[in-house]
Amino acid sequence: MPESVAREVARDRRPPPAAPDSAARYVNLWSEDEAIGAERVRAFVLILRTRGCYWADVKGCSMCGYAKDTLGRSATPAELATQLEHALRAYRGEPYVKIYTSGSFLDDREVDPGSRLALVRAFGGHARRLLFETLPEFATSESLAPLRDAFSGELEVAQGLESTQPDVLRRLINKGSPPSEYFAAAERIRALGIRAKAYLLLKPPYLTEQESIDDVVTSIGEAARRFDAISVNPVHIQNGTVVEWLYRRGRYRPPWLWSLVTVMTEGSRLRGETRLVTFPTAGGLPRGPHNCRKCDRGVLDALEEASLSQRFEPLSALDCGCRADYRALARLEPLGIEA
Ligand code: SF4
Ligand SMILES: [Zn+2]
Repeated sequence: MPESVAREVARDRRPPPAAPDSAARYVNLWSEDEAIGAERVRAFVLILRTRGCYWADVKGCSMCGYAKDTLGRSATPAELATQLEHALRAYRGEPYVKIYTSGSFLDDREVDPGSRLALVRAFGGHARRLLFETLPEFATSESLAPLRDAFSGELEVAQGLESTQPDVLRRLINKGSPPSEYFAAAERIRALGIRAKAYLLLKPPYLTEQESIDDVVTSIGEAARRFDAISVNPVHIQNGTVVEWLYRRGRYRPPWLWSLVTVMTEGSRLRGETRLVTFPTAGGLPRGPHNCRKCDRGVLDALEEASLSQRFEPLSALDCGCRADYRALARLEPLGIEA
């Protein structure tokens, strides 16, 4: 990517100055279907408003627009406590809790250590599993052990590994650390008795559909023995990103759901004991992963069911007239021709 494009996109990504009272409000929360082992449960999802990911300021990843939901400065412990207090009013004792920060929960600049403990303790005694995300450099025993000791249930630490291929990660996604650092962090996490989860990205910019399928399937094979769970996240187009810059110029199409079906089917044969899931954001929408619109809902429902049940055979039975267009595209796309 030319430097000038990177600068233009980085300017676009900066959050507007935060309103004076916005630090007291979390970004969003909702409840969704999940599973712990074979048991279907509800999950409580909370997105805190924090300083956001430092890497988004340094360079930023090509598909990530989460900086839009951040403060542009660190939230104080009192502001984080207020966000938590408001969020707890909506908590109904869901057994699975996911806390996101549009960055790294373990980065002290986003959530200070005292607030981390308070957040984890607030859900103790109710939640059986609590998930948060972090970049690998912050996943140390010093940051994790106190949280593990403070939480009565099981912790799960998710990392946006995206791909196990160093070139894809560095050149196409623009991550700051190589896959080996994510693997090393997963080892540290598991050594503390904490679950390790990886997100893999389907269709970073500059890969064809087939190349992106191959990338994720290879990555599932290489990540499976190192992580307890893998979530495949197809790209959806977020504002102020390189992906959006290409999309606006007709040079990027979000992945087909058929690609996701192939990835999950082939990946299920490589996953071993690791849980393999996908819950696409903006599925069926023009800026999210989609097929022909007519079959999108059915395919998305089948992918969700496979993720919850860990039964992937039913995906092989899915079909639609648009699958022929998709196959033609897969053959022509390497030549730069749109089907
Ligand atoms: S994808 Fe993750 S590491 Fe990359 S800029 Fe976004 S929050 Fe930061
Ligand atoms: Zn279709």
